[in-house]
Amino acid sequence: MAAGLCAALGAVPAQGEPAKSQNDFPVATDVRLEQQGETVKLSMALSTVIGVEAWVQAAPDRVIIELPSTNFQIQSGARKSAGFISAYRYGLFTADKARIIIDLSQPATIVKAEAKALRGGLGELVIELRKTSRSEFLAEAAKAKKANTTVAAPAPAKPPGETRRTVVIDPGHGGIDPGTVVASIAEKSVVLNFGLALKEQLEASGRYRVIMTRDDDRFVPLADRVKVGQDEKADLFISIHADSLMQAKDVRGATIYTRSERATDAEAAKLAAKENEADAAAGLETSEEVQDVAGILIDLARRETRTFSGVFARNLVDKMGASVRMHKIPLRSARFWVLSAPDVPSVLIELGYMSSPKDAELLTSAEWRGKAVGAVGAAVEEYFARERASVGQAAENRHAQ
Ligand SMILES: [Zn+2]
Repeated sequence: MAAGLCAALGAVPAQGEPAKSQNDFPVATDVRLEQQGETVKLSMALSTVIGVEAWVQAAPDRVIIELPSTNFQIQSGARKSAGFISAYRYGLFTADKARIIIDLSQPATIVKAEAKALRGGLGELVIELRKTSRSEFLAEAAKAKKANTTVAAPAPAKPPGETRRTVVIDPGHGGIDPGTVVASIAEKSVVLNFGLALKEQLEASGRYRVIMTRDDDRFVPLADRVKVGQDEKADLFISIHADSLMQAKDVRGATIYTRSERATDAEAAKLAAKENEADAAAGLETSEEVQDVAGILIDLARRETRTFSGVFARNLVDKMGASVRMHKIPLRSARFWVLSAPDVPSVLIELGYMSSPKDAELLTSAEWRGKAVGAVGAAVEEYFARERASVGQAAENRHAQ
């Protein structure tokens, strides 16, 4: 008894200890999906008993289950759908919350959503859903509608006396939002690996202060990503994604996107619309890009930012084009929300098409990643070198006067 108490006390984290890693989270394993008549049950084994909240959401119709941060170690062969459950996904939602989102093909109501205590301190998560009428489902959804937003952690301000250029790297998706999934590869992992490698490359030069919008498998709302760039007074914002085009598996190569109100082409417009839905994929309801602030100063800033974004985008096409395969139209633009900061030059790199078996192989290869990261690093270098050169030129002109 006494020994048990000591062990329990020993597990209390000391003050000021860094944030918990996934290894410290409760573990969920052994997912099961069973249908019985009008009822479908989703269950998972838990390493401990945790609090569970669940509610339904309409259009798209789904059930959202919120848990404390959980380490999902789900077996690969698990059943993916049953009855009116057409799909489900799971992952971190915020720093201290995880979500399971169940997509419904027909209206259903929550009969049970709980973590049962089992022997030995273990738990079992049980979600039981039953088919219901459309009207009843909508009534439930209206009742459950809650202020369902996340609050961004306050960003640390740029330290005084910092002379290095600030680059924000934004690996797309994460946590509950996997992005594109082809075979067993999720976009969120491909772009995180790329982002971390790029951070290492840029930091090695000693010239850049590099901030990541996420450096692990967690969900970050689009508005928060934009805000990181602005709060950090970033000199460059680089969002990283990997596209897919299931109806044309032979389309390949990397594409560089900048923001424009009108898309350069229909495919770019469609892609931006898809990427702009990332918040909805995580079950955020109040996700709408804030209307552009009007004003002459903002317009001037935006125009200048757009010019710089364009310069960097061309640097990227040059450098990446010299070492990896590019899409046949490698420079395009569309209304990407994540690129909307009026004061931060921002580009979005689609590394390639996960729908192309050849690209998918490259995207997961360390060798390709090394080449592509090197090329992006060189483009960053070129972008700031031009700036240094023009500053140097201005200084020389002053001396000559
Ligand atoms: Zn994406």
